[in-house]
Amino acid sequence: MYLYLDVVENFACEMCGTCCRNDWMITVDEESYYRNARWFKERGCSEEFSQALLPLSKRGFGEYAYIAKQSDGSCWFLDPTNLCRLHREAGHDQLDAVCKTFPRYPMNTSRGVELTLSFSCPAVLKKMTRVEPLAIVRSEHLPWQETQRDYAAEAFPDQRSRYHPLHYYYELESHFFDIIQCRAMVMDERLDFLAASVNKVLQIPKDDFFGRSLRCMMEENYLLMDEKTCLRQTKYCTPEILIEHFLANFIFKKPFYNYGLQKTIELLLLMWQEIEEARKKAVTFTDDMGITGKIIMNMEFQYNHNRRQLLESFHNGREK
Ligand code: SF4
Repeated sequence: MYLYLDVVENFACEMCGTCCRNDWMITVDEESYYRNARWFKERGCSEEFSQALLPLSKRGFGEYAYIAKQSDGSCWFLDPTNLCRLHREAGHDQLDAVCKTFPRYPMNTSRGVELTLSFSCPAVLKKMTRVEPLAIVRSEHLPWQETQRDYAAEAFPDQRSRYHPLHYYYELESHFFDIIQCRAMVMDERLDFLAASVNKVLQIPKDDFFGRSLRCMMEENYLLMDEKTCLRQTKYCTPEILIEHFLANFIFKKPFYNYGLQKTIELLLLMWQEIEEARKKAVTFTDDMGITGKIIMNMEFQYNHNRRQLLESFHNGREK
């Protein structure tokens, strides 16, 4: 089974080169490092290889070396026409997993493979500029042919005790996804409602009735949401809708599973506060959509791609 957000369908890289110029370290695993070493050696280019792929002094899981930058900060292999020299000369298979995958975000879960996109790519942001709420697609096929996957998150709720909220993770994720997309409330209200719901979940006694109590709470929430009248309809995507897509996409990336309910709601509230503060600070509001898009791209970059530093300092470990 494959589950993915509908925006993943028909995604096509626009070769703008933004991701090849980002201020991040592109790491490669040991296999990719030696595969490239052989390829460069066969062409008598070992010297370029030793400049382009630099072994890491501290190696993490799947991280053996990193790709050097050009003097302007872009990837070593990016050419002036925004194309990847390694891709052109050596072929797609020669690329490391990150370059093959980005901006796709594959997750390994007990339901199968789940997939979404990263908002730090301008082509993704363009796809997200739509009025319709994001939808989760279930399919027997992935809308992406790549076989090599570098999973960015995981979820195996069955491994949790049935007295633990994360045992019911998929139901919770779907419920939280619905709350964040409930347009009968403004975003402030949705986040307050989400925070109150997380609080209620954490208060449920851990006994044999845990699952039933959790479902009752969710049903009550749906009744409350149904009673609300829909706020104004719009034909065009607004900054508020773009923020909604960003937060819904964030929820689908399994932070509630990987970092815990309380920590994730705190992070969501912090992100919302930062988005609002950054929007207020923007002197010209004539292009609110463009400004909001830039803020979101930057936030995705910080909280997702640099998550090792930022999330670790924020969370300081998972909840038990
Ligand atoms: S930022 Fe997105 S559209 Fe631009 S080159 Fe990277 S993947 Fe392609």
